Amino acid sequence: MSQQTDASTPKRQSYDVVVVGGAMIGSSIAWFLTDNADFDGSVLVIERDPTYEFTSTSHTNSCMRQQFSNEINIRMSQFAADFVKNFRAYMGGDERVPEVPLQSYGYMYLADNEAFAGILRENQKLQENCGAGTKFLTRDQIAQAYPFYYLDDIVGANHNLIDEGYFDGNTLFDWWKRSARERGVEYVTGEVVAMTRNGAGDRVQSVTLGSGQVISCGTVVNASGPRAARTAAMAGIALPVEPRKRYTYIFDAEKPLDRDLPLTIDPSGVHMRSDGAYYLCGCPPDDDPGVDYDDFTEDFSLWENKVWPVLATRIPQFEAIKLVNSWVGHYAFNTLDQNAILGPHTEVANFLFANGFSGHGFQQSPAVGRGIAELIAHGEFRALDLSPFAYRRIEANEPFIEKAVI
Ligand SMILES: Cc1cc2nc3c(=O)[nH]c(=O)nc-3n(C[C@H](O)[C@H](O)[C@H](O)COP(=O)(O)OP(=O)(O)OC[C@H]3O[C@@H](n4cnc5c(N)ncnc54)[C@H](O)[C@@H]3O)c2cc1C
Repeated sequence: MSQQTDASTPKRQSYDVVVVGGAMIGSSIAWFLTDNADFDGSVLVIERDPTYEFTSTSHTNSCMRQQFSNEINIRMSQFAADFVKNFRAYMGGDERVPEVPLQSYGYMYLADNEAFAGILRENQKLQENCGAGTKFLTRDQIAQAYPFYYLDDIVGANHNLIDEGYFDGNTLFDWWKRSARERGVEYVTGEVVAMTRNGAGDRVQSVTLGSGQVISCGTVVNASGPRAARTAAMAGIALPVEPRKRYTYIFDAEKPLDRDLPLTIDPSGVHMRSDGAYYLCGCPPDDDPGVDYDDFTEDFSLWENKVWPVLATRIPQFEAIKLVNSWVGHYAFNTLDQNAILGPHTEVANFLFANGFSGHGFQQSPAVGRGIAELIAHGEFRALDLSPFAYRRIEANEPFIEKAVI
C-alpha cells in the first residue's frame, strides 16, 4: 500500500465535500467524484491513520462473489468484477495503471441439510436470472470436481466459476488515492473529533479536527469503517454499527491440493481458499460481541479448537498443515441486518452514510463510490439504484435481509 505523507492542515477552510475516512470506501468515493463529469467541487479526505494499519481494508480477505440472496448485492459485485477486469479503461486508459488479477475459482457454499440446500437453490435461481454463473451441485458432482473434500455430511452446494473468487483490491485502493490526488482531491492526516449542525439542525455545517481546526462542508460523508457510529454520533445521529473481530489464518499444507481450492464456506462458519502457494481461512468467534475500537488481541484457542479441526475434517489432506501467519480484523458490523447503509440521513440531509458493510465492503467499493458520487452530483442514484440500503430502514427498524452473510 502506498504511504504518501499528507499534510495535517487543510489548505482551505471550506470544501464542497468532506470525506471522513480515506481507506477503501472513502478513496473510492473521492475518486468517483473526480470521475463524474457533472461534479467540479472541492473534496477533502480526512484520515486519522495514513498507514491504514488497523483498518478493515488492511485486514480483508479480498474475496468477491455473486452468491448473494439480494439482487442489488449481486449487481454491486457484478460491477466490481467488470471494474476489476477493465480497470485501466475505467481509470481513463492511463498507461501506468496495471492489470488487476481476479482469480475466479469461485465460492463453494456447502449445505449440510435440506433446508439450507433449499435456500441455496432459491439463491441460485435469482443469481442465474441476474446473469451469474452459479450452479447447484449435488454431493456427487462436488466429489467429481473436487475429490479432496469429505462430503458424507453434505447435501449439496452452490458454486460459480465466473467472476467470483479473489481479487487484488489493494491495487484499486492505491490507484484511487493516487489518481484522486492528481485530480485535485486533498488528503490530510487528522482525526475528525466533532461536528456542528446549523440552527435548524438539518445540516452539518462544519467538522472539527483534533488540531482544533474547523472546516466548513457542503456535504459530509461518513466513510469511517468500524468507527462509523462514533462519527455519526458527532452529528447527533445514531448508527447500529460496531467493530466485531474476524480472524484470518494463512497456512501451508504438507501435501498441497492438486487444484485450486474454491472459497469454501463450511457449515461450521469456517471459510477457506487457495492463496497463491498457501491457503487462507477465517471465521467469526463463537461468542461475537462488539469490541473496543483498539482491541485486536488474538485468541489462539480458536485456531486449535475450532479452525484446524474443521479444516482437517473437511479436507483430510489438511491434517498436516503449518500456520504461517494470522491476524485479527474488525468488521464494521451492522447489527440490524449486516448490509450496507448508504445515502443521506433522513433529517440531516447533507450527512451521507457509506457504512456497515460487515463482510462485503471490499467488493462493494466500486459500486458504493460510483453511487455516492452520483448522489452528490445529481441528487440521485443512477447506474444502480442503491436506495434499498437507505438509512430510513434503520429508523423504521426494518432489516433488509441478506441470507448469504459471511
Ligand atoms: C477479516 C476481514 C475479512 C474481510 N473479507 C472481505 C472479503 O473477502 N470481501 C469483501 O468484500 N469484504 C471483506 N471484508 C470487509 C471489507 O474489508 C470492508 O468492508 C472494507 O474494507 C471497508 O472499508 P472502509 O473504508 O469502509 O473501512 P476501513 O478500511 O476500516 O476504513 C475506515 C477509515 O476511516 C478512518 N477513520 C475512522 N474514524 C475517523 C475519524 N474520526 N477521522 C478521520 N479518519 C477516521 C480509519 O482510520 C480508516 O482508515 C473483510 C473485513 C475483515 C475485517
